[in-house]
Amino acid sequence: MKALITGGAGFIGSHLSEYLLQQGHEVFVIDDLSTGNIENILHLKSNPNFHYTIDTVMNVPMTAELVDRSDIIFHLAASVGVRLIVESPVRTIETNIKGTEIILELANKKKKKVLIASTSEVYGKASKVPFSEEDDLVLGPTHKGRWSYACSKAIDEFLALAYWREKKLPAIVTRLFNTVGPRQTGRYGMVLPTFVKQALVGDPITVFGDGSQSRCFAHVSDVVDALFKLSQKKEAVGRVLNIGSNEEITILELAKTVKRMAGSRSRIQFVPYEEAYEEGFEDMPRRVPDLCRVQELIGYHPTKGLEAIIKSIINYQQRLCESFKEARSITPGP
Ligand code: UDP
Repeated sequence: MKALITGGAGFIGSHLSEYLLQQGHEVFVIDDLSTGNIENILHLKSNPNFHYTIDTVMNVPMTAELVDRSDIIFHLAASVGVRLIVESPVRTIETNIKGTEIILELANKKKKKVLIASTSEVYGKASKVPFSEEDDLVLGPTHKGRWSYACSKAIDEFLALAYWREKKLPAIVTRLFNTVGPRQTGRYGMVLPTFVKQALVGDPITVFGDGSQSRCFAHVSDVVDALFKLSQKKEAVGRVLNIGSNEEITILELAKTVKRMAGSRSRIQFVPYEEAYEEGFEDMPRRVPDLCRVQELIGYHPTKGLEAIIKSIINYQQRLCESFKEARSITPGP
């Protein structure tokens, strides 16, 4: 199989590239490195089945050529991270909507299968947990920047499902819940890499709000396995599917667990939301996926629990820090 992964140099995209290559598939990546990182795919460059293009999916002739060469498209390119969304709403909306429009239009010309990575953000402020795919979406007002992300992703979902219904383009929509693991950066606000880094360097661990909000964290290896299996399942076409973990933890408890596991002396610091993001910021109090649908289709069960996940991130960040120190010690001085 020849697979095109948009956003393939990103955190999830690079793990999916690795996974598909290991299975013997040919992988084409397009990434503009806006939030992706070339370091994520350097180790794949020597594989003859791996090809990458540093460009945006908005470059239509280039993207068209890559779509033509592929049998399937995993569309992961998007603006990610709540901080980035609050700071750059225009870029978020445009990247998410235009990028998906282009991918679906190009894929439709040759009826290439497309798997769209959407997000649990689309459930918004829904209070009924767990969130299941046919639940109502409850979004906040348009003057609050955060909701533009959910809205833009919901439009992507509508468009993908419309292409399937109206034009018979085989499209699958996946809603990814908090996905974590090695290579994820805290630069765009994600909580777990941020906490681990703070704990390892001894900085205060910044809990936003009172820390009573909860999330469920899935390891990226479980998530990419599900993405691939769903892409091969004809019953997944035309459907929306949650992917994630349903092991719930409050953010305060998460901070304490990271601190303990890292053997850290960092203190836990509470930061008001308006300081962390913007005035009037609304957070989701709980976010738990209903996984019945994905379990039924591909027998999905997350294999990595929270402690194993945290351990893998601590190990990754420690290795990164050691190789950074090593590189500095062998760099000749001025
Ligand atoms: N969060 C936090 N401290 C941080 C970063 C995030 O307390 O340094 C909180 C954030 O307010 C949210 C949760 O952790 O309640 C998860 O945030 P993240 O951005 O990782 O993902 P989200 O679930 O909001 O998309």
